Amino acid sequence: ATDKARNFLEQIIEKDLAEGRVSRIHTRFPPEPNGFLHVGHATSICLNFGLAEKYQGECNLRFDDTNPEKEEQVYVDAIQEDIRWLGFKWSGDVCYASSYFDQFYDWALHLIREGKAYVDHQDAESMRINRGDFNKPGVESADRNKSVEENLAEFEKMRAGEYEEGKASLRAKIDLQSPNMNLRDPVLYRIRKVPHHQTGDKWCIYPSYDFAHGQEDAIEHITHSICTLEFQDHRPLYEWFLDNLPVPARPRQYEFARTNLNYTVTSKRKLKKLVDEGVVGGWDDPRMPTISGMRRRGYTPASIRRFSEMVGVSRSDGTADVSMLEHAIRDDLNTNAARAMAVLAPLKLVIQNLPEGEVQEMTAAAHPNRPELGQRTLPFTREIYIDHEDFTEDTMLSRKKFKRLVIGDYVRLRSAYVIRADDVIKDENGNIVEVHASFVPGTVGEDPPEGIRPRGVIHWVSATHGQQAELRIYDRLFNHPAPDRGEEDFLSHINPESLKVMQAWIEPSLVNAAPEQTFQFEREGYFVADRCDHSAEHPVFNLTIGLKDTWAN
Ligand code: ATP
Ligand code: MG
Ligand code: MG
Repeated sequence: ATDKARNFLEQIIEKDLAEGRVSRIHTRFPPEPNGFLHVGHATSICLNFGLAEKYQGECNLRFDDTNPEKEEQVYVDAIQEDIRWLGFKWSGDVCYASSYFDQFYDWALHLIREGKAYVDHQDAESMRINRGDFNKPGVESADRNKSVEENLAEFEKMRAGEYEEGKASLRAKIDLQSPNMNLRDPVLYRIRKVPHHQTGDKWCIYPSYDFAHGQEDAIEHITHSICTLEFQDHRPLYEWFLDNLPVPARPRQYEFARTNLNYTVTSKRKLKKLVDEGVVGGWDDPRMPTISGMRRRGYTPASIRRFSEMVGVSRSDGTADVSMLEHAIRDDLNTNAARAMAVLAPLKLVIQNLPEGEVQEMTAAAHPNRPELGQRTLPFTREIYIDHEDFTEDTMLSRKKFKRLVIGDYVRLRSAYVIRADDVIKDENGNIVEVHASFVPGTVGEDPPEGIRPRGVIHWVSATHGQQAELRIYDRLFNHPAPDRGEEDFLSHINPESLKVMQAWIEPSLVNAAPEQTFQFEREGYFVADRCDHSAEHPVFNLTIGLKDTWAN
């Protein structure tokens, strides 16, 4: 491949390998366990694990768990399940930033001894003001020039819990005049008197993201530390720590653009709000852009990997069109999902020339061009259901306009006979409640005799042998392309029609569907047996995506 076909990270890695700067690459995916992973994280997973796969390297899963108050074990567990489901395997055991807390603490002491860190007693507000801004140089705190001994003693008091939260923090002594705000004496440790999901109440001081991240990378011998663009300005600080600490390795940080998607939000904080306020049923609600939500919606790992490839790796922010994600799953399901029939708006059709009690077994391929997926049996009986929309009494509708059943005319029932509609039965309000029809013998898999031209092919389900199922018809959760970019609260853009629950008739073979099995319900859309609620006694299918592709590439 030419350089053009490779993204900038692949180019860097190939050069590093070719020049021997590294002999093997080692990446990592470092989520904070403060929520479920979303589609943006999925692209980062595909990128980090994908690079390791491509270059026969390794990729760690590391929980960046330095903020105990927002983190929970349930998130730790869910994140691991999502990554495994996507089909990736991390190198060795799961890593936790918290398992390096002793080491970070030693490195903090190291900086203090070198005169490169000090305990500052300014409150957060004073610290912010005294840090200055682009036009204003920073102002030194009274604590900045205390002796090494005093700082060691103060830091020990912090660690021992002698100060309340906000009363002291450890800061690096770098440069209060730096044009890069991240270098204006960043905070290394803050006091948080909360227990931690991994370390319990061992610590009441916790390292900042900046003081932890690069050192985690160094401890794990990460070669290429890939993060999103907002950390570009943190890179000089990332390197300052590596320069000033006796770290065992020298990782390098690279930045790429976050994946944003229209018609949704990708921020754990906002997704949590949707969950907490009951807007959705949970983190794995099929309308959520979380990995577990997409999974429950019927997305496959392959489709999410494919989407990541389509998004690619960029150095400038942009927003991907959600129809691209939808295209990826539709394409996958078109190739791989078994076909089946379900009638969503049932209209009873009685085949007058088929005796009651007679069952004829029709067979149909599970997939039009995947013989290995086998066949299914469709019981054809006197009473069947067709969809209301597939019938009309309007005999003036042209064959071209209405390729379905019209009174007095012919249509083919999918994988069964050609039938003719003869009569309709109506209720007192004039609504059609039943259609009487007759089948044309000898037309299963055969052309009808001369003079009979079916208008089209429609789907159907036996009324006596079919089953009822709950269908959950999902639509986009937001009806605005950029729900969190405007003046209004993002919750004001919720699509009130994002979920409709209905009863449908399904062909009998569908009750044996395994949870998470995907189908194309012919002429209706792609559906998945709900991972949590589907059973043979109570079949539940979720609409994954409609049949029509709206993605224009
Ligand atoms: P959020 O604000 O959505 O919670 P985050 O960056 O705070 O995201 P982390 O748990 O820290 O969440 O993310 C783990 C990794 O996933 C990081 O390396 C981060 O760069 C990456 N990541 C997060 N969001 C995206 C996104 N939208 N696109 C690509 N990568 C992302
Ligand atoms: Mg983060
Ligand atoms: Mg975040």
